[in-house]
Amino acid sequence: MAQLSDDCFAFGGPMMSVDEAVGIIAARVSAVPEVNAISLGEADGRILARDVRAPLPLPPFTNSAVDGYAVRGDDLPHGKEQPFRIAGRVQAGAPADEAIQPGQAVRIFTGAPMPEGADTVFMQEDVRIDDSGRVVLPAGLKPGANVRPAGEDIALGHAALKKGSRLRPQDVALAAAFGLTHLDVRRRLRVAVFSTGNELVSPGSPRAASQLFDSNRFMLTAMLARLGCDVSDLGIIRDDRAALTDGLKKVADAHDLILTTGGVSTGEEDHVKASVESAGSLVLWRMAIKPGRPVAMGIIGGTPLIGLPGNPVASFVTFVHVVRPTVLALMGAAQQPLLPMPVRSAFAYRKKIGRREYVRVNLRQGDGDVLEVIKFPREGAGLLSSLVDTDGLVELGEEVTQVEPGQTVGFLSYASLL
Ligand code: AMP
Ligand code: MG
Repeated sequence: MAQLSDDCFAFGGPMMSVDEAVGIIAARVSAVPEVNAISLGEADGRILARDVRAPLPLPPFTNSAVDGYAVRGDDLPHGKEQPFRIAGRVQAGAPADEAIQPGQAVRIFTGAPMPEGADTVFMQEDVRIDDSGRVVLPAGLKPGANVRPAGEDIALGHAALKKGSRLRPQDVALAAAFGLTHLDVRRRLRVAVFSTGNELVSPGSPRAASQLFDSNRFMLTAMLARLGCDVSDLGIIRDDRAALTDGLKKVADAHDLILTTGGVSTGEEDHVKASVESAGSLVLWRMAIKPGRPVAMGIIGGTPLIGLPGNPVASFVTFVHVVRPTVLALMGAAQQPLLPMPVRSAFAYRKKIGRREYVRVNLRQGDGDVLEVIKFPREGAGLLSSLVDTDGLVELGEEVTQVEPGQTVGFLSYASLL
């Protein structure tokens, strides 16, 4: 486990910007040290622990890009077409045993190695066979056409996959193309998740009229799973300081991160702050972000803790800006900055200067080939429907005070966040 010091997340200012939060996390959280070799079939989504250098060039040998006829560049017809004797045939997978001689053509297929001396291939669609069985090649083709030189894709020794990358299907394909069977990745993170609140019950349990089913825990668990974490679901802890302190102490050792939701405000029944202070150390980050409220950052026995607000939308948005960078840092992944896509706003909006806001929106095709976003009609941080019925978030920077219809704004799809 990555041991962090007690003052790791301490922060001086009254309101923390989103960028400051991400900066502190990226600078102070280090990766779990353990590395495992896993088979390619299990590699998707894992974090590469070392650069992979090309153990062979790609393609490994010079080959034809088309089905056709290979010739020497020196022999290419100029001005008018010219017949060539067909001197051999090379299929994909077969060796090209014989060197090509001046004036000869060799029948060749896509992926077949080029015969020695040949450097240009005519596509079969562009040639004809004459009465004496010779292939008639047109004038005008450039030397080197339709050939894939060895190493044109990737040179031998090139750092083709980078340490810290989150492996995607195409990355796994590249490892396979190198002939590798295993990749060194960081071990999966173990994250403990629990909800706090006397009003919560788990789905499947009886619910009193004054209670609601815990939904955040399932959202956060799913978000963590999408980031590749192993999650321990620790259920619901009552609004009780001793129970909370006890729960935190018990799980810290066996986990790389503790995530809680609810109880991080400064109300009388918000116990996360005091519990973390007695089990370890805590700072409350008042983040300049909406939706969002104070987010707790703490350390318990060297294990980081993040306390998210209880309102579902605030919990979702602060997860993206605090938990996501922490998880990436702990799992040794390069930070992946969120890059909002420019789209046209179909709504008007006003906001306070000095804080970052995220507006829940739907994406639709606008006039003139432009994508347009429509704002979800209501704004409450407790509205789960506002997350369910939308496609993503429009990010409005700290300096923005209003948006007018027709203005360009930055859109983050939900799919891009995890
Ligand atoms: P809190 O942050 O504890 O003050 O909670 C803020 C609001 O979010 C309250 O209305 C809670 O009932 C609600 N809430 C807290 N935790 C959850 C949860 N796990 N699932 C759904 N709603 C929650
Ligand atoms: Mg609460």
